[in-house]
Amino acid sequence: MNGNSRPPHHPGAGARSDLMQLDPGLAAAYFDLPATPPPFPLPARSTDSEFFWASGRDGVLRMMRCADCSYIVHQPSPYCPGCGSAHVAAAALSGRGTVYSFTVAVQTFVPGLAPYCLALVQLEEQADVRLMARLVDVAAADVTIDMPVAVAFIKMSDQVWVPCFTPAPVSPRVTEPANQENL
Ligand SMILES: [Zn+2]
Repeated sequence: MNGNSRPPHHPGAGARSDLMQLDPGLAAAYFDLPATPPPFPLPARSTDSEFFWASGRDGVLRMMRCADCSYIVHQPSPYCPGCGSAHVAAAALSGRGTVYSFTVAVQTFVPGLAPYCLALVQLEEQADVRLMARLVDVAAADVTIDMPVAVAFIKMSDQVWVPCFTPAPVSPRVTEPANQENL
């Protein structure tokens, strides 16, 4: 085993499935996640992050990107951690990614704020950019590691569109035919 291997599949998945068979009450707790999650508190905004929260106004996810080496800088920073350049600016991204990890919150610590699924979404453009966001429009039991997702925004005010993610079809990919010279 090397240090670069991915962690195993969600460790609770199997146990959860067994419990759901044993306990119908628990099974009932594994509901469809709502298309529009409950109203979370507004995020705190700063000069650096204001563009990020407003980006969903036109349905496009944006993050800071370095003009010199293309590195995506998230959390927002005035400097590129890749090359040290100060030429960083908000840039449009595809909004596509995969679920790197996730958790389902069922305990209602604040009235109205559960259930929800919080995921760490690895963005298509850069493997080390992972955005913490809620998953919507999916049954909690159907969420899997590496599931393709696409960004969706929830408008919370005239300045804040919170990025969430929904399941997305796998992008069509062009594959080369197998080398048949030796067949
Ligand atoms: Zn750079």
